[in-house]
Amino acid sequence: MSDIAIVPGTFDPITNGHMDIIKRAKKIFGKVIVAVAINSGKNPMFNFHERVALTKDVIASEEELAGVDVEGVQGLLVDFARKKDANVIIRGLRAVSDFEYELQMAFMNRRLDSGIEMIYMMPYIKYSFLSSSIVKDVFLNGGNVEQFVSEIVIKRMREKIFNKGVLVK
Ligand code: ADP
Repeated sequence: MSDIAIVPGTFDPITNGHMDIIKRAKKIFGKVIVAVAINSGKNPMFNFHERVALTKDVIASEEELAGVDVEGVQGLLVDFARKKDANVIIRGLRAVSDFEYELQMAFMNRRLDSGIEMIYMMPYIKYSFLSSSIVKDVFLNGGNVEQFVSEIVIKRMREKIFNKGVLVK
């Protein structure tokens, strides 16, 4: 059994809730790899390359996360895990609403590769209702998201939105 865990997600953008889970994973596993997925099903604010770069920058800015790698993933997550010699995939569980989707994914991943275990972690309660979507919603409507995401994310969202001309200030 290797000591390597993958923490996958869309990270559009990475929030303090994601960071909470990555920090918890790092306490348990010798090596943590954050896997940024293409996720064609979502209509992201940041494209794949921007999400990989932003996630890398935010993780590099946190001393507590030194040594955590960030990589973009195309294709099946279980294939990526195998390639990295990882046999654990970690997901965050916020509210009951996450459960059904996670259960479906866990069973599918097990069907695809029974050698990989899914582990679920709960964040601090203060992050339990936090999602990338709600951060984007609040931000796009002019709200303050400082408590929920890194200042690097806020800067990148500002550049993105103002460049597109969606908001004028
Ligand atoms: P996905 O599209 O794969 O669900 P996300 O980037 O939305 O990607 O989430 C990645 C992982 O992080 C998921 O396991 C999700 O449950 C978890 N997560 C997202 N937000 C939070 C949060 N606030 N607290 C804990 N876990 C979270």
